[in-house]
Amino acid sequence: MRLRLPDYDYKFEDGLAEVKDGILYIYKPGAFKEIMYRLTYLIYGSEECVFCHRKLRTNMLELDNTKYFSQITLDHLVPQDFGGPTITNNLRPACSECNSTKGNMYPDEFQEYMKFEGKKDKESKIAKRQFKKDLEYKQRQRRLGEIESVNKEWFSEELIRNIYVNFWITEPLGVMYKKQESFFKNYKRLPKPIVISKNRFLLDGFNTILLGKYNFCDKNIKIIVLENVLFEGYP
Ligand SMILES: [Zn+2]
Repeated sequence: MRLRLPDYDYKFEDGLAEVKDGILYIYKPGAFKEIMYRLTYLIYGSEECVFCHRKLRTNMLELDNTKYFSQITLDHLVPQDFGGPTITNNLRPACSECNSTKGNMYPDEFQEYMKFEGKKDKESKIAKRQFKKDLEYKQRQRRLGEIESVNKEWFSEELIRNIYVNFWITEPLGVMYKKQESFFKNYKRLPKPIVISKNRFLLDGFNTILLGKYNFCDKNIKIIVLENVLFEGYP
């Protein structure tokens, strides 16, 4: 798949990466997430929430909370809980209120949920309860892999044998690994895809690789190949 990029050339001031002629060149190992965050703000802006369309408060005298919010964050459209990758295609600027309310809902679920938010009448309460029940059921199906949780078109169908890993792992088997391991034990599948560059460098997903190796299921690792990204950290 192609990573969504700004449609103009851009060089990060600190030299982490560069967008040139529609290709993202990454120069620093281990900085992939940071690069994705910054690119997302470049592409979608950092002043408006994609869900409630309120604007970032720039002046303390702008007190109207129906028009302004105070903190911009980045939301994963496909939630991280269900393997949503940290790439620009899956990230959007959102106010901290929308982001935390959305939690691990998909955008359409969040939209549905917001219809009940703040309503006190009996019918809305019943509808909200039913919605939550349905959501829990759907989320369990997603975790079990019974329904698709990440867009299938994002995964590579090509057989990839070798992947270069070129950054220091500061916390092998750390908290994030444990979280993924308990997911694996409960649902018998790998929770997250890995993300690699066109020239086969690992950009994200080292824990998934470890988990796959230790459990002899590394053939089932889902791989996202970013066809317009090159790692050029070691010229
Ligand atoms: Zn919002």
